[in-house]
Amino acid sequence: MAAHKGKILVIGFGPGSFEHITQRAREAIQESEVVLGYTTYVDLIRGLLREGQQVIQAGMTEEVGRAQEAVRQAEQGKVVGVISSGDAGVYGMAGLVYEVLMEQGWTEKDGISVEIVPGISAINSCASLLGAPVMHDACTISLSDHLTPWELIARRVEAAGQADFVIALYNPKSGRRTRQIEETQRILLQYRSPDTPVGLVKSAYRDRQSVVITDLAHMLEHDIGMLTTVIIGNNSTRLYDGKMITPRGYQRKYTLGAEKQALAPHQRLREENEPWALHSVTNEGAEQPVSSRTLAEEALGKLGIGVAVKPQPISQTTFKQESIFEFAVSPGVANKKLNASQMLILAEVIGEKGTIEYTPHHQINVSIPTSEPETITQKLREAGLLVLPVGDVISIKACDFCDGEKVDAIPYAEKIQETLGGLAVPKELRIGINGCGMSCYGAVTDDIGLIYRKGKFDLFLGAKTTGRNAHVAQPVAEGIEPEEIVGLLEKIMRKFKEEGHPNERFHKFFKRVKEIEGFRHQDAPVLVAVEAVCGD
Ligand code: SAH
Repeated sequence: MAAHKGKILVIGFGPGSFEHITQRAREAIQESEVVLGYTTYVDLIRGLLREGQQVIQAGMTEEVGRAQEAVRQAEQGKVVGVISSGDAGVYGMAGLVYEVLMEQGWTEKDGISVEIVPGISAINSCASLLGAPVMHDACTISLSDHLTPWELIARRVEAAGQADFVIALYNPKSGRRTRQIEETQRILLQYRSPDTPVGLVKSAYRDRQSVVITDLAHMLEHDIGMLTTVIIGNNSTRLYDGKMITPRGYQRKYTLGAEKQALAPHQRLREENEPWALHSVTNEGAEQPVSSRTLAEEALGKLGIGVAVKPQPISQTTFKQESIFEFAVSPGVANKKLNASQMLILAEVIGEKGTIEYTPHHQINVSIPTSEPETITQKLREAGLLVLPVGDVISIKACDFCDGEKVDAIPYAEKIQETLGGLAVPKELRIGINGCGMSCYGAVTDDIGLIYRKGKFDLFLGAKTTGRNAHVAQPVAEGIEPEEIVGLLEKIMRKFKEEGHPNERFHKFFKRVKEIEGFRHQDAPVLVAVEAVCGD
């Protein structure tokens, strides 16, 4: 019996074009004495058949019959190639062949041989035509309810929607099955925004290929049929230049007002930038960090004042993406005093998970993992706090104008804050503003310094704020009319923004371009090596 054992090759021939058929699939088609397949598929691979092969074509609905026929022929000692589009093991013929074999108690050791030849499945071929939508966890769901109860399919759609999978819908719609895709859209709209990108690919890599990019709300306005695969993006899938792209990971950082919310490459794998990771969960029994809110509540408790704790609504269903929201907070440009209610609100928004840090630059930096940065910003602003971006932005460090007594320069400082504060620049930059010639806040040690004196501004450019060769900024102009100062700074900053190299500090930029707005750069004096003389 063993001498006559035949073989079944279940061959996934990919989406349909010869370029996308694997070498092994080609060989397997050639090796087959009998080639069995759905008529349309046989037509697609006809150019790869050889003389003398028996070709058995069958209708789409006769899949089980095809599998049985294949087994029968192989048992007669023949090499039988069963062709399947895409990958034979994804809603393909591979499972059916095994089902027939299992029913008759087949084992690999004693029975006919079986080889499953993998191919490019529709999820992969269609994704490649759409851009890169399947970069993150994805699933395939067939909407065909011929062999699967609709209730189960609906549950899977729901689960996939809830768990934020990228979803590839196979068999989305046919002449008679039209409601399934409508139901699917309805379910997914409960978990995803209506503008979630959706790709519709019909006949990928075949003659009548069509690729449409739409969104969840409008997907049904386009042609969808049996030859279409529908790919639905996850919460972070984006459209770029007509392509659907799912980032490799989730957004980790939220920066106020920034168009791009990116982490620098070296920051990507740091634990503190992965608030969602398992390692960030504190072990039971381990010492819990005391949150700022707890401390604030404790303090109020001692004063006999209670705080109403608003319960945080926890959504059971909707997936909300958390990112790290980092910002600077301050009571004002000139005002340096936080009041108790501002501190309470700050403690409340920082909550259990956030951190607050006082920096060497008279700045309070806050970092909170949250899915609602806008709500936090609004709350703090309503409390009269300035909420400003951090990172490579312009920050304004004004003095306290002698506790607000030297009022003349305050409106200009506020205007500068309003106009330039938080704007993105190639490298973080501080503008120091001092309200009188005493300059006790050290404006000349900032990247740009302004000193208000006798009703006018003196301007200093390009301090090197750190390092052994740190130096103060170069005095470039005296007596600038206050009305002109904002416009002048704007011009200087525009040049830096447009011509500065990424990560280039302002003092280096000034040195490189030599001249900004007519102000010429002068080299700082070179250090003179001095023979150390030891006193006795
Ligand atoms: N085994 C196949 C899937 C068969 S189920 C595979 O792995 O790709 C049939 C469904 O596959 C179709 O309804 C359609 O959703 C998808 N499909 C198969 N080939 C396709 C192609 N060339 N373009 C777009 N979708 C395709």
